[in-house]
Amino acid sequence: MQGDIEEILVSREVLNERIRELGKRISQDYAGKDLVLVGVLKGGFVFLADLMREITIPVDMDFISVSSYGNSTKTSGIVRLIKDIDINIAGKHVLIVEDLVDTGLTLKHLKELFNTRGPLSVKICTALDKPSRRKVEIDIDYEGIEIPDKFVIGYGLDYAGKYRNLPDVCTLSPKVYMD
Ligand code: 5GP
Repeated sequence: MQGDIEEILVSREVLNERIRELGKRISQDYAGKDLVLVGVLKGGFVFLADLMREITIPVDMDFISVSSYGNSTKTSGIVRLIKDIDINIAGKHVLIVEDLVDTGLTLKHLKELFNTRGPLSVKICTALDKPSRRKVEIDIDYEGIEIPDKFVIGYGLDYAGKYRNLPDVCTLSPKVYMD
């Protein structure tokens, strides 16, 4: 697996440091409020697990699963809902926890979906952001690390289902997808 990596783009140390800061901010901003963290599967589960342990206020959590990529490295632009949340979010504050914002289509779709269910607020927290790729305007309330327009793997992110278990955010060697 190590031979498939081109370079480490964001190390686990840099990620951890940023996640500590985000956890602190979220804990302050939502103190005394009813907060639900919604992790976006599959990629967002690693970030959610790290982030929630840096949050010092009581939180509820759930997962939603969407797919927009298939097995390719380019988005299809179509967001397909695979698994919905089980929690009723009416009267609660929702924070969507995502691995990476690319075109913004997934989060725009999820924000609109949650807003139809009567929450007090719906905000967004992402580990990684590729702003140069944005197709729709979307406010990111809590941003981890900005990255360039490169296809990345690791820290929950996959290529064809693999590499999610790499602890750092890496670029994939072109030989892997050229073969
Ligand atoms: P968006 O809807 O913002 O275009 O894309 C969101 C999702 O596409 C991310 O949550 C992520 O799962 C996937 N994605 C976007 N860029 C990359 C990338 O560079 N690598 C991987 N593995 N997935 C990506």
